Amino acid sequence: MRIIPISLPTPFYIGPVNVYLIAEDPITIIDTGPKTKEAIEALREGLRRVRIRVSDIRRIVLTHAHEDHCGLARSLRDEAKDAEVLVHKWETGHRVGRLEYAEHRTLLERAGVPTNEIAGMRKVYEGVRQYADSFKPDEYGELRDEEELEFGTGSLRVVHTPGHTPGSCSFVREADRTVIAGDCVLKRITPNPILSPDPIDSSKRFPSLAEYLVSLARLRSFAPTLVHGGHGEPVHDFEELFNRYFRAIRERQAEVIRLVPKAGATPWEIASAMFPATDDVHRFLAVSEAVAHLDLAHSEGKIELEFGDGKEVYRRISSI
Ligand SMILES: [Zn+2]
Ligand SMILES: [Zn+2]
Repeated sequence: MRIIPISLPTPFYIGPVNVYLIAEDPITIIDTGPKTKEAIEALREGLRRVRIRVSDIRRIVLTHAHEDHCGLARSLRDEAKDAEVLVHKWETGHRVGRLEYAEHRTLLERAGVPTNEIAGMRKVYEGVRQYADSFKPDEYGELRDEEELEFGTGSLRVVHTPGHTPGSCSFVREADRTVIAGDCVLKRITPNPILSPDPIDSSKRFPSLAEYLVSLARLRSFAPTLVHGGHGEPVHDFEELFNRYFRAIRERQAEVIRLVPKAGATPWEIASAMFPATDDVHRFLAVSEAVAHLDLAHSEGKIELEFGDGKEVYRRISSI
């Protein structure tokens, strides 16, 4: 069972995305690339090299529902005559064409993000959503944690690895400890936990960083020897990456805790102090990063949280 990486261009800052072809029965593609002419052409070319056509694809599996990973899923499904599409049920957004504007708006307002900034973030998002089509609820199936995706000569185990998004999944081939990890593991950068409503209670934030740390530890338990990420080169030394991520997260934690004043500040104010010169596109990522760290620090009892005027105010604990 051979896993064939294909790199596709994206219009995003992150650069090309990796999708993975398993060229045996049922012919399966893990992630699809964004809905652009350049990406579909590069995908056709990649498939042609191994004598496969889009119409041969029987199964489309999504690591998560970000546009660079899921954008072409619908076009591929249509061209491949109803190939099966599988995604974790916690992956919302484009998956079902429900964009959760209201839930996001509430979470951003509560984090102290000013109204004009929320409008700016929405505009950026409107620009991004053109790169993916949505699905109706009866057009996809669910990926379940621990389930095996069977192939002619082997299988891949689905491992739910929330963090980057609530429904992010990785795929583990235990026979040779190979992992396809989507944006859960990226060689050159620490993945961003993106601000998301909690899939169980959408009035709450998903505790993305705490979940992410658990997911990394879970992947580590497979002692991977090769990890294919959503972007960039594969990782051969997972232990080194794991330690580097933990160090980076701990350092960022310390920085965020230092930035929380005794008098209190909203997540937006703390994000602005962390990333003072952030442009429009990255402001949502800046808030995501700040709240992820504030949530973790608060859950570990390192900072205090109060609600004032409908907004979260984090305060340094007075005894330290
Ligand atoms: Zn992503
Ligand atoms: Zn990505």
